[in-house]
Amino acid sequence: MIPIRLNWQRHTDGFQLRDFRQSNGLTVKIAEPRSRRTDALLHEAINLEDPIVLRLVNCETDADYITFLNRFGALEQKDISTSDEIIGDLEYTLGSFDKPRSGGAVANVIILNVLRDRALSLEGLIKETLWTGRVDTAYRVRFLNELMDHAEVVVHPHFVHAADKMRFVLQAATLFDFMVMEVTAAHEAEAVATSCEHCRRIFLTGSLTGRRSHAKYCSDRCRVAAMRARNAAKEG
Ligand SMILES: [Zn+2]
Repeated sequence: MIPIRLNWQRHTDGFQLRDFRQSNGLTVKIAEPRSRRTDALLHEAINLEDPIVLRLVNCETDADYITFLNRFGALEQKDISTSDEIIGDLEYTLGSFDKPRSGGAVANVIILNVLRDRALSLEGLIKETLWTGRVDTAYRVRFLNELMDHAEVVVHPHFVHAADKMRFVLQAATLFDFMVMEVTAAHEAEAVATSCEHCRRIFLTGSLTGRRSHAKYCSDRCRVAAMRARNAAKEG
């Protein structure tokens, strides 16, 4: 497979959670950068041992989402306004892979429900197509092509130069595009998704994932913790 690359950025001082009150009296939770300072963040290739898409899907609490944003940056746009620019209401759409309108005409902040909706859509996709590998191939091909069309995934052909070698890569336009490509790369590698018997997090198994195809635990840490819990139960 041609390497998929992402040239992205994250906010140096991270994000903070804030309530934003709309003119209709309803409040939405938003994540906003603490400052305008940013650091460049380069992903040279997809890593199926620890894909970013599963970091997002495995988020549970608001704090988990903020940690995700601090580490990997925003999903769609590099430049996000800080709150003093929000005028009027925030508009957004939920429930699909369409590019979300995560701000009104004026503001581009991250609405937490939009981020959560993205995570749930991606989790649904993974459970529908990657779980236990029982889905038939014709269905998968149709499903993935529809997904990539619908999500308007953009990757650009690109040459990179490193250590006096040239390499051909496909550069993803956004982190969201990169994550959809991670899902497709998992399919190409014939990986299977499952959830850890100890911590319940979703992880991939099979070649290129760093785990045996019938692994029950996401990590050695969970395998050991589960064994300890079993032993403690026996002794108790
Ligand atoms: Zn685990």
